[in-house]
Amino acid sequence: MEEVMILGSGPAGLTAAIYAARANLSPLLVTGSELGGQIATTTDVENFPGFPEGLTGPQMYELMLKQAERFGTRVEYDEVTGVDLTQGPPFRVKTHSTEYQTKAVIIATGARPRKLGVPGENQLIGRGVSYCATCDGFFFRGKELIVVGGGDSALQEGLFLTKFATKVNIVHRRDQLRAGPTLQARAARNEKINFIWNTVVTEIVGNGAVRAVRLKDVKTGHEYERPIDGVFVYIGHLPNTHLFQGQLDMDEEGYLIVDNRLHTSVPGVFAAGEVHDRIFRQAITSAGFGCMAAMEAEKYLAALEDRLQPVPAAVSR
Ligand code: NAP
Repeated sequence: MEEVMILGSGPAGLTAAIYAARANLSPLLVTGSELGGQIATTTDVENFPGFPEGLTGPQMYELMLKQAERFGTRVEYDEVTGVDLTQGPPFRVKTHSTEYQTKAVIIATGARPRKLGVPGENQLIGRGVSYCATCDGFFFRGKELIVVGGGDSALQEGLFLTKFATKVNIVHRRDQLRAGPTLQARAARNEKINFIWNTVVTEIVGNGAVRAVRLKDVKTGHEYERPIDGVFVYIGHLPNTHLFQGQLDMDEEGYLIVDNRLHTSVPGVFAAGEVHDRIFRQAITSAGFGCMAAMEAEKYLAALEDRLQPVPAAVSR
């Protein structure tokens, strides 16, 4: 029987692990298939306090993991395939290799990139369509690319891609960026960045490799094909909550509903990070949520222990 299991290895899960481990709960963390979560696919992290020179996403993951293990977190490099949170504690958590029972669960399964949902996208993933510049940028040395989106991710990763590509065209559905001013200014200064405003991608074209995209000007309705070597998509995220459907309350987009202490609709089950937070979505806020969830889990386990222990004769009436 585990005291607390933590599902997910991004900043939320790893921070929960650090706090739970330091509370002597010997947490078991199941990493999931995306080690480090989204931060591990981020090129530069420049706004996490304590790192004035910045660091890469993978470096941040390694450091957090080391810190969690140092205090006694046990890490399982596996993926959760099923849970039973309806009749607990104990709750049941199933991975590819094992079935666990646990008194408390912290869900930090994060979110995944939203897809465009246009013809050609799925067929050409890994063949010119990507959601991770850090992972795939290197393959586009000397090529021309399209980045879709107008937020911080599109600009940050678009700027990273200029290290390899001859030109990075940022396709945005409006004529104003959502990204913050620092990244906007950097993008404006970069000669390899070209903005294509008021435009959406309607198809990704290619047979075995991306050859072109079909673009549509949303103001004029004009649609045309543009030759391109690769497409990087940064249009937001969807929460990874399919395992909890029907067991935990979630909103219409699948984000877990939590109270202000990160309790889900089932006592003993907590959520931390982008699996419930659709607003802040920062490594630092996810880490903060991880801390809060672990502290609440600790309180929950202490109360559970109190309920299970017989009251000593000396203090019973
Ligand atoms: P985001 O801020 O939600 O931006 C998504 C972008 O994609 C928006 O410009 C949106 O257009 C566009 N979009 C959404 N659906 C679309 C569709 N179906 N077709 C075409 N375009 C679509 O997502 P994000 O950029 O991934 O950022 C997520 C969070 O992480 C934010 O809070 C951001 O500040 C943070 N972040 C911070 C940094 C940093 O500080 N350096 C770096 C990366 C991310 P509209 O603008 O028209 O809605």
